[in-house]
Amino acid sequence: MKITAIESLQWAEYPRLLVVRVHTDEGIIGVGETVDKVHGSKGALHGTIAPLVLGQDALDIEGLWRFVFDNIMYHGYAGAELRALSALEVALWDILGKHYNAPLYHLLGGRIRDAIPTYNTCIGAGSYSADYALWHDAGGKHAGELAQSLLANGISAMKIWPFDPFSERSWGQHISLEEVERGLGAVRSIREAVGHRMEIGIESHFRWNRFSIERIARALEPYNVMFIEDPIAATNPDEIKAFSQRTPIPVIGSELLMTRWQLREWLEKHVSQIVMTDPVWNGGIAETCKIAAMAEAFGVPLVLHNVAGPFCHAACLHIAAHIPNLFFVESVRAFYRTYFSVLSDYGPALENGLFPVPQGPGLGVNLRPEMLERADLTRQVSGGAGLAVGRRAMGDHWEREEIR
Ligand SMILES: [Mg+2]
Repeated sequence: MKITAIESLQWAEYPRLLVVRVHTDEGIIGVGETVDKVHGSKGALHGTIAPLVLGQDALDIEGLWRFVFDNIMYHGYAGAELRALSALEVALWDILGKHYNAPLYHLLGGRIRDAIPTYNTCIGAGSYSADYALWHDAGGKHAGELAQSLLANGISAMKIWPFDPFSERSWGQHISLEEVERGLGAVRSIREAVGHRMEIGIESHFRWNRFSIERIARALEPYNVMFIEDPIAATNPDEIKAFSQRTPIPVIGSELLMTRWQLREWLEKHVSQIVMTDPVWNGGIAETCKIAAMAEAFGVPLVLHNVAGPFCHAACLHIAAHIPNLFFVESVRAFYRTYFSVLSDYGPALENGLFPVPQGPGLGVNLRPEMLERADLTRQVSGGAGLAVGRRAMGDHWEREEIR
């Protein structure tokens, strides 16, 4: 089954998303996506990656991945090229599933669970704008209302980042005692409103030095939070390890580690108790499973980072069904209850706070045809009519030769 065209789709209404469709000579179309800084990913997809994969067999996912990765690793190891490759790889798995009429989780080796635990990342959007405002505004004093609202949906774990604003004054070099108190407002409000029925994750977005995050962690200790995520830049794993050994709060890192090789160092050093990775930018679905298996061997659980669109969400749920050492799949109520159903036929139905795994071939989630007719769509296609199918054999590393 030859790849005949690589297509990217961007809508002005959803500027963070880049949806990628891979077309084949058998008429099967696979869908993938990546997220954020999409102009770079789009350039890498059409300019660098499409010429490498057009005409190749769409079912040879491992071979295609290796061929592209060997070509992009010089400059694209952890950037736009890898995001584009990840989106492409997700689409190839979708093709594989549609070809064999099997859901992705079967292709991965089947399920270890059929209901997926999730925590809600409290981003606001559309009719769910309050999911952000309630914990962020007014010193966090309404965060308890958000916790109650999430519990009413069966969601018993939530992630917020109440200390982030205070990092800007000093570039993360110093948080004052008064700022710590203000940041605690949201956490305190949640505990006062719902007690310990809600797990709380504290996201830190790499903003702090160790002095500051240790001060924050000491203040958080009485509140029994579930984790602190990405406290310090992921480029400094030794500092993060030092922090994690000085606080009883578990540490998660890091969504910014790309491929199995960056996770390897992290795991070997025992930097954090929990690791996190994202299939739409770490290399893809197979890469995520390899990372999960490596973490499992170290006895470390994994969070699947998931803040993109419905195709990333579906991929995460399939992977989560398969890997033994799942901690949580991240999800955003303000996304899956608003635009997911605009873009796709995904119909989220949380059952007792758990996601069922999509059924149907491949990702089990399909792009709505009307998304191709929208006025705000920017569409770019590489390949298509006139393509010389099979013009480049796998293993032909001509791109490498240009880099001497
Ligand atoms: Mg994060």
